[in-house]
Order: sequence, then C-alpha cells, then structure tokens
Amino acid sequence: MRPNLLYAVDDNANDAAARETVSQSLDEQMMRRCLALATESSAQREYPFGAVVARNGEIIAEATNRVARDCDVTRHAEVVAMAEAQRRLGNTDLNGCTLYTNVEPCALCSYAIREARLARVVFALRSPVMGGFSRWNILNDRDLSAAIPHVFLPPPEVVPGILAEEADTALRQAAPVVWAFIRANGLLLVEPRDIVPEAKQRTRASTSLLRWLTRALRLTLSDRFGRGRRKT
Ligand SMILES: [Zn+2]
Repeated sequence: MRPNLLYAVDDNANDAAARETVSQSLDEQMMRRCLALATESSAQREYPFGAVVARNGEIIAEATNRVARDCDVTRHAEVVAMAEAQRRLGNTDLNGCTLYTNVEPCALCSYAIREARLARVVFALRSPVMGGFSRWNILNDRDLSAAIPHVFLPPPEVVPGILAEEADTALRQAAPVVWAFIRANGLLLVEPRDIVPEAKQRTRASTSLLRWLTRALRLTLSDRFGRGRRKT
C-alpha cells in the first residue's frame, strides 16, 4: 500500500506557536493511526502494538506486531515498520523520519531506531520496565554518537505521552486480558505529555567543520560498508 498524505505541514507558517499546534495535531493524527493498528494487531492474535514511520506528514510505512505469525520475537511493530520504510526508501538511513508507536519502544527497537538514525520518536504509553527510554537510556544515550559519530547521529527528539489516555482506553478495549496483566504489573504508565519530563532536543556536532567531516565520513565509509544503501 502506498503512503497516504495525512497532513501537509504548512511551510509558510512562521509563527512558532502555530507551528507547534500543527506539529502536535500531526503527532495526534499519526498516533490515532497507531491506535487503530494496535487494535488490528490484537485482532490478528498479536500483542496490541502498532507503529508508523512518517516523513513530512506522509506515512512511509506502518505495521502491526508480527511475532506470533512469523514465529520470531524480533518482529515488533516498530522493527517491522522501520524495515519496510528502509525498503521503500532504498536506504537504511531514516534521518528526517519520525517513528510513532502506541507504546514506548523496547530496548531492541530503540537500538534499531538509533542505528537507523530516526529524527524523532513519539509514543503514548511509557514503559518503565522494558522501555528503551525510561528503563534503559538507549534513545537518549549520547555516548554512542560521541564515540562513533560517523555511524550514529545524536539522540532523536523523544516525545512521550501523546494521546496517553486514548491509548490506554484503546488497549483495554482491544485486549482486556493483556491490559489487565499490564496494569497489575505496572508495565505501562499513562502519563499525559505535560507531566512527562521534558524531552531533549537532538543536538549536533559543535562546529560546522566537524559536522562536515563527520557527514563525509558517514557517507563515504560507514554508509557504503554493510548498510546496503541503494543508489538513487
Ligand atoms: Zn520492541
């Protein structure tokens, strides 16, 4: 299925508040798509998780969990969506893309997010036990990009708590037994965006020369060795 243009960001919007409103509205639209995918995932006898990869308001790829159907514990919705986005773009580098998911990405997905260089990660429910942001600091880890900047970009912007209440309700309706287990064990937290600690912005290398050198090294060496970038 080809991407749907859900919401085009207005390039002429020069007012910061208006831009923020547009951005939040877009995030909420994408998150609602994730909630629908999560419900679909449950109907497919998978865990109720859904993920979307989007760029400039356009969905590049979307996925439900596929662990049970593929008999593969690595087939989380986020990983499946990122793999599909990379295939469609013909590039393992997803810089400029946002990953949306109804639940905070786990450690496995978070490492894949860093290696695929996504710019933003937006999720609804926080995962204090298994999350790659709340439990293990993978999404916001700066050592990776400081040690090997020609492979890893600085941490993505992380936006937790988008539509958290709706996501919790959708989870309860789609998979009541799973929801009850999650709730009883404190696996997911419903925290609206305004009470979650402020997400850190992605910061880049400090000087333009260093930035240029790092990018050149990335394009000429690391991206041509083992990452399978297709010529466009
Ligand atoms: Zn995962």
